[in-house]
Amino acid sequence: MTELETFKQEVAQWLEQNCPASMRRPIVAEEMVWGSSKLQFQNEDQKLWFERMRDRGWFAPGWPREYGGGGLSPKEARVLETEMARLGCRQPQYNLGVWMLGPVLVEVGTHEQKLEHLLPMMRGEQRWCQGFSEPNAGSDLASLKTSARRVTDEQGEAYIVNGGKIWTSDGDKGDWMYALVRTDSSAKKQDGISFLLIDMKSPGVTVKPIELISGKSSFCQVFFDDVRVPVRQLVGKEGEGWALAKKLLQHERAAMSKFTEGGAPSHDALKTALPYMVDEQGSVVEPALRDRLAAVLMDAQAFALTHRRVTEKALARQDVSGPSSIMKLVQTEQEVAKYELLEQAMGLRGLGWEGEDFSADELDVCRAWLRSKSYTIAGGSSEVQLNIIAKRVLELP
Ligand SMILES: Cc1cc2nc3c(=O)[nH]c(=O)nc-3n(C[C@H](O)[C@H](O)[C@H](O)COP(=O)(O)OP(=O)(O)OC[C@H]3O[C@@H](n4cnc5c(N)ncnc54)[C@H](O)[C@@H]3O)c2cc1C
Repeated sequence: MTELETFKQEVAQWLEQNCPASMRRPIVAEEMVWGSSKLQFQNEDQKLWFERMRDRGWFAPGWPREYGGGGLSPKEARVLETEMARLGCRQPQYNLGVWMLGPVLVEVGTHEQKLEHLLPMMRGEQRWCQGFSEPNAGSDLASLKTSARRVTDEQGEAYIVNGGKIWTSDGDKGDWMYALVRTDSSAKKQDGISFLLIDMKSPGVTVKPIELISGKSSFCQVFFDDVRVPVRQLVGKEGEGWALAKKLLQHERAAMSKFTEGGAPSHDALKTALPYMVDEQGSVVEPALRDRLAAVLMDAQAFALTHRRVTEKALARQDVSGPSSIMKLVQTEQEVAKYELLEQAMGLRGLGWEGEDFSADELDVCRAWLRSKSYTIAGGSSEVQLNIIAKRVLELP
């Protein structure tokens, strides 16, 4: 038996013994455990699973042990990921810091930044939010205007930040924000941008939740009013923010697979919708529905295999910037197609928003259907992904 096979056996055994049965069911948004200074668990199983994975450094299995990671080789990290998927283990911690900022810091952060930020992420003690979009800088992100002026005074060297961000998911719950700011307004727009880490408790930061039509929202608008950010919180060099943001967005697009299922109807969603599609013998009789269901299932299978191939490449440190845009586009559009199909099959039963007339599963399908559309916008809209693929992957004029 090779070393990797022995490792696989040990991992499988450890997961069997340590991942509680309730942590092997598909996750719903309300049950996600977000790493935070206000860390909360809904039950003992969540806490156990979180603590056991944390203690092994398996929130980020491939990061160096020095910074709280698991120190696994790329192949070992892949084995762990595959075994977790095989056993249906949930992510023990949800954290934009770990998934998006962390890999960038591991690559370009200073030793002090790694100690200050990676270790708390690995203990699940810091919640991060993303401060990229601005009211007139979404798809055209490089037009952002939030300014950061470098000063040296009796308190030392710092940036004074003014302006604001919008669509900041969970900005009201964030302990820290990684943000793009303009440090040079005379340079070409991409060149004048820098990447700053901002403590959300700093004086001058105001966060206002944005109310949406559903009455609920995780979106916030964040205002900066002469916010002082020490220079040690600059990631990379001044003016390098655009290149770092592009790196980070690749991780964001990959991380979105942790929220969506890659187009495959989850066991629960399909179970809810199937009774509306089949006859007494369990066959899907309506030909058009059967065709669409088959297409959704085949696309999901093709996506899963492609995802696996791209993950292997990423673990082998090959450039996956092209595929990550394609994966994000395909995955989120497949997710929409899947829920459109479930909705069509369920008819009015799939449109319940609240109330006892609908089962909890029916309500879940409706909310997931609405949420699926937002993933085609978050992290760069589908149209923008198509532009990126055309220019950078296909090298079209
Ligand atoms: C669920 C969700 C979570 C989000 N979380 C965050 C967050 O935490 N932090 C953050 O900074 N931002 C966040 N965003 C914002 C997101 O990044 C932007 O919404 C997205 O980049 C689009 O920008 P916009 O909303 O300004 O739309 P616009 O850029 O105004 O686009 C409007 C429409 O025009 C199309 N369009 C724009 N430019 C082109 C073009 N060149 N060619 C073809 N079509 C084009 C777009 O596809 C879209 O359909 C989130 C968004 C969503 C939906």
